[in-house]
Amino acid sequence: MNYLERVTCVKKSSKKGYYILYWMQGAFRVEYNHSLEFAKYLAINKNLPLKVLVVVDFNYKDANYRHFKFFIDGILELVEKFNDLKISFHVKVGPFTEILPQYLNDANTLITDKAYIKWLKDVRNKIYKNNDVNIYEVDTNLVVPVQVASSKCEYGAYTIRPKINKLKEKILNDFVFFDYRDNNFVLENDLDSLIIDEKLKSVHYIKTVDFKGGESEADKLLRDFLNEKYDNFAEKRGDPAFDFESNLSFYLHFGFISPIKILKEALKIETNPENYETLFEQLVVRRELAHNFTYYTDDIHNLYTFLPEWSKNTLKTHEKDKREYIYTLNELEGCKTHDKFWNAAQYELINKGKIHNYMRMYWGKKVIEWSESLKSAYENLIFLNDKYALDGRDSNGYAGIAWCFGMHDRAFKEREIFGKIRYMSENGLKRKFDMNRYLMRVGA
Ligand SMILES: Cc1cc2nc3c(=O)[nH]c(=O)nc-3n(C[C@H](O)[C@H](O)[C@H](O)COP(=O)(O)OP(=O)(O)OC[C@H]3O[C@@H](n4cnc5c(N)ncnc54)[C@H](O)[C@@H]3O)c2cc1C
Repeated sequence: MNYLERVTCVKKSSKKGYYILYWMQGAFRVEYNHSLEFAKYLAINKNLPLKVLVVVDFNYKDANYRHFKFFIDGILELVEKFNDLKISFHVKVGPFTEILPQYLNDANTLITDKAYIKWLKDVRNKIYKNNDVNIYEVDTNLVVPVQVASSKCEYGAYTIRPKINKLKEKILNDFVFFDYRDNNFVLENDLDSLIIDEKLKSVHYIKTVDFKGGESEADKLLRDFLNEKYDNFAEKRGDPAFDFESNLSFYLHFGFISPIKILKEALKIETNPENYETLFEQLVVRRELAHNFTYYTDDIHNLYTFLPEWSKNTLKTHEKDKREYIYTLNELEGCKTHDKFWNAAQYELINKGKIHNYMRMYWGKKVIEWSESLKSAYENLIFLNDKYALDGRDSNGYAGIAWCFGMHDRAFKEREIFGKIRYMSENGLKRKFDMNRYLMRVGA
C-alpha cells in the first residue's frame, strides 16, 4: 500500500496563500502521523512554512471534564514536541467553524485527519464549503484506510477480514518520514492556555480516571502492556477476573498513538504467534469493522435504520415480551440493579473509564433485557458509555453497542425478549470465570 492511498484531495484552489495549515483534529501525536508527514511534504514541495493548529471546542458533542482533561494534558505535551521540531504550533479555544476561517484566510492548503462519524464529517464539510483553499484529508488513525478496506457497510468481521488479510503484508510499511525544517522558525506563543484553564472550570464535571492523556503516556502504557501482559493476551484477554487488556483504547480514541506503532512494536516481541493474531484481530479487523460501520451509516442513533433485517424483525416481534425487571436510567447509572455483576461493570465504567471487554458485552445485553423499549435501551447505553467511558464517543463504542442488538452478529436459537439475537446470562459468567475475583478487582 502506498501512503498516498491515505490521502484524499477534497478541493482544489488557485489561491496563493502563505502557509500550509495542518488542522490536527483526530491524530494528536507527532509519531506515525501520516497527516503531519503529508503536510510536511507539501510544505517542502511548495516552499511554504507549515503551521499546525489544534482547536479546543468546549461545545464538543458529549464531551465532559473527564474527556477534556485527558485531551488537554495530551495537547500541552505537544507544545514542547513541536517546538523541538521547529514547527509552528497553535492551540486556540472556540468553535471549529469560527477558528478555522481565521487561519484559512491566508493559507494555501488545509490538511486534516479523516473523520469517521457523521457529525464530525458534517463539521468538516461546512468548513470545506465556506473556504477557498486546497484541501486534503488523510486517513492516519486506521491501519487500513476506511475507503481502501471497503467501499460499503460490511455485514460482519467475516466479510471485512478477507479484504484486510489481502493487504496484510503491505499495510505496516507505508509510512514515509519527511525532514521538514522551517529556517525562519520563531517560537510563537499562540496558545490560549489561560482561556483553557478558565473554561475547564465550567465544563460538566465527571471525575478524572487513573490515566493521563498524551503521546508519551501512551508509549509508556504500550511498553507495560508488551512487557507484562502480551505473553498472556490470547489466553487471558477475555477473562474479566484478570486485567490482561492493553487499555490503549483511550489513547487510540484521541489519536495519541497510532495502531501501526502498536503492531510494529508487538512484532518485535518474541511470543506465541497467537498473541499477535489476537491483537491483529481486535486492533485491525474489529476496529476497522467498527469504523466501517460509522463511516457508512448516516444515522447511528437510529437502530432501525441500520440493523440487519433478521435482527430488526426478531427484536420487534419480542419487544412487548414481559420483562422481569425494568430499570430507569437513574437506577442503571447508580449501579442499582439486582445483578451484582452488572452493577460492578457499571461501577468499573464510572471508576476506570471503561469496562472489561467481556463485561462490556454483558453490560449491553442486560440493558436490553431490563428496558421498556429497544429505543430506550439503545439510548441509555449510548448515554452511559459516552458520558463515562474515556474511550467513548468512538466508532468502537457505537459498533459495540449496536452489536448487542445483533449488528455484525448472527442469529441464535429464539427466546423471550431477545428473539434470535445472542443472549448472555449471569450463570454463563459464573460458569466461565472467577466472578468474585472480578468483583474484587474492580473494587465493587
Ligand atoms: C457495549 C460495548 C461498548 C463498547 N464501547 C467501546 C468504546 O466506547 N470505545 C472503544 O474503544 N471500544 C468499545 N468497545 C469495544 C471493546 O470492548 C474495547 O475496544 C476494548 O475493551 C478496549 O480495551 P483495550 O484497549 O484494553 O482493548 P484490548 O483488548 O487491549 O484491544 C486492543 C485494541 O483493539 C481494539 N478492540 C478491542 N476489542 C474491540 C472490539 N470489540 N471492537 C472494536 N475494536 C476493538 C481497540 O481499539 C483496543 O484498544 C465496546 C464494546 C461493547 C460490547
